[in-house]
Amino acid sequence: MNGGKAVVGAVAAPFVAVFVLLLVVTVVLGPRAAAGDPDCPVSADVLVDAGGSTFVDKGGAANAWGGYSNGRIPLSELCAIPWAPRELLRCDATAALEVLNGAFRADFGGDLAVSDGYRDYDRQVATKKAKGVLAATPGTSNHGWGLAADFASNVNRYDSAQYRWMKANGARFGWFHPTWAEPGHPDYAKPEPWHWQFVPGTATQTEPGACLGGNRDLGAAAAAERGWTGSQWTCLEQLWTRESDWNHLAQNPTSSAYGIPQALPGSKMAGHGADWQTNPATQIAWGLDYIAGRYGTPCEAWAHSEQTGWY
Ligand SMILES: [Zn+2]
Repeated sequence: MNGGKAVVGAVAAPFVAVFVLLLVVTVVLGPRAAAGDPDCPVSADVLVDAGGSTFVDKGGAANAWGGYSNGRIPLSELCAIPWAPRELLRCDATAALEVLNGAFRADFGGDLAVSDGYRDYDRQVATKKAKGVLAATPGTSNHGWGLAADFASNVNRYDSAQYRWMKANGARFGWFHPTWAEPGHPDYAKPEPWHWQFVPGTATQTEPGACLGGNRDLGAAAAAERGWTGSQWTCLEQLWTRESDWNHLAQNPTSSAYGIPQALPGSKMAGHGADWQTNPATQIAWGLDYIAGRYGTPCEAWAHSEQTGWY
């Protein structure tokens, strides 16, 4: 980073932002014991409340991706859900849901029924006519980004074992229930137990037996390409845990630092990709270049952070 000034956020601030954004109370450890779960550590990226996979939905524009408009995603960018082939989602959301479905099947003996996935603009208009206040204004639905799904299989009942299972396990696969549909939550607005959203970059379990997909895993793979394994990886892991807890949506409330490496300002990362606000891989690539250019190695950056609180 240019200018030789203190460039990265202070120790505690990113965690405050995470609290505000995601209502962190604690990292759920219970799901680790769920059926079919190998020894995958629950990544601290997945920050949910003690009740399960709940997150604050930041709304339509925050979910935008790829330069597309809501409800106008090219079908080539979407993947059908294998057991509900008429329903489409963004391909990473479908992949994560497939893994989730494997765990769901193991516990309940059947597929997790999907009643609605991607909803193009015309279908949003039709849904608004049919459902009124329960449906989003056309052009703003989270279904229009291919990142939301409505489930049946009793997940559509707040008092069901299946709903509780989703609350306990969804986060492992990057699937969250928005606080606006969470009874008793201050954000509560609409009774939609069936509506769940995929939050890219948060899954800790992306295929059976594997532990890939979390932001730390992405970081470890990218660092290894530079030979930063072993103690260098440990330094990097500690550094970005301090900065952002590896949350690619982390904002610093007292500066414009943003993302996993807490780039200041976040837009500095644009040189590594126009998707710097939402793509953890872009942020990681920028951060590794920054560390290499300024400090040489993650352990040099960590040592500086230990002395000064920033890097
Ligand atoms: Zn929905």
